[in-house]
Amino acid sequence: RAKNDGKGSFRFFEAAMDAEAQERRSMEIDLHEALRNGELELYFQPLFGLSQNRVTAFEALLRWNHPTRGMVSPVDFIPLAEETGLILPIGEWVLHEACRAARTWPDHIRVAVNVSPVQFRSASLNSVILQALASSGLPPQQLELEVTESLFIENVEATLASLHSLRALGVRVALDDFGTGYSSLSYLRSFPFDKLKIDRSFIIDLQANNGATAMIKAITGLADALGIETTAEGVETIDQLDILRKQGCSQIQGFYFSRPIRAGAVADLIRELDYQEQAVQAA
Ligand code: C2E
Ligand code: MG
Ligand code: MG
Ligand code: MG
Repeated sequence: RAKNDGKGSFRFFEAAMDAEAQERRSMEIDLHEALRNGELELYFQPLFGLSQNRVTAFEALLRWNHPTRGMVSPVDFIPLAEETGLILPIGEWVLHEACRAARTWPDHIRVAVNVSPVQFRSASLNSVILQALASSGLPPQQLELEVTESLFIENVEATLASLHSLRALGVRVALDDFGTGYSSLSYLRSFPFDKLKIDRSFIIDLQANNGATAMIKAITGLADALGIETTAEGVETIDQLDILRKQGCSQIQGFYFSRPIRAGAVADLIRELDYQEQAVQAA
């Protein structure tokens, strides 16, 4: 029956599209409410400094506790937030919340905040950051912004100017997911990033030793020469850690040390990780 029924399959397709559009619309309405209803929460994942042998920073990672859907991943709602412009109030909330949390941590520990390209291109980013620093009392050097290579696809001049104006505030800038995007080494020369975050895809391959180690070596060598720190993302095993240590990576981030945790658990985790590593060193 359905075989020759072009109309029927078209209707089916329409209905599917409808359901998808409705789903999107309902998520969008919910996301509007999420901020006001206190459904957004920051989790924090430690970055462990290999030369310091202690936690040097935490990355703020956004979570949405949806009343009926449960925990929604940022991978599933950040794109929607970007398309609808909701990323601006959400991003502002993230910056305030992250700075407020970091203010209660020891002075040598920074907070890293992901900044969406939409936020980055908005005229208000610098003033939002200044506001977050002022209202929390966090020194600018303790705030690190994570931006992605996508900023370099177009309008490189404007991107560089914005990066310099952010740097002038005294905050640090890290290049996130390094190696996955539109890599051109020339922008590493044009803008002095404080840190390259080597994408997890390079780390996953490490134990296989199929050239992945050589890639890490090349990246850390380049970063060293330019005076840039390196953080390896997504480190899950001690074998990966050993290779990264040997290749001179500055910091390690990943489930090997800790998954992202709630703000209230940060102080205990700092004590635990710093203490464990000192014990390992002493042994
Ligand atoms: P990202 O900035 O590259 O963050 C790292 C992601 O890798 C996080 O996923 C983290 O939980 C995950 N991860 C860390 N260690 C490991 C590991 O050992 N194994 C595995 N499998 N995964 C690991 P998450 O929290 O789901 O965030 C995903 C992405 O969502 C982030 O990638 C970032 O691009 C975006 N995001 C998160 N929070 C924010 C935010 O506040 N603002 C914006 N604009 N984007 C955000
Ligand atoms: Mg990040
Ligand atoms: Mg990353
Ligand atoms: Mg990543």
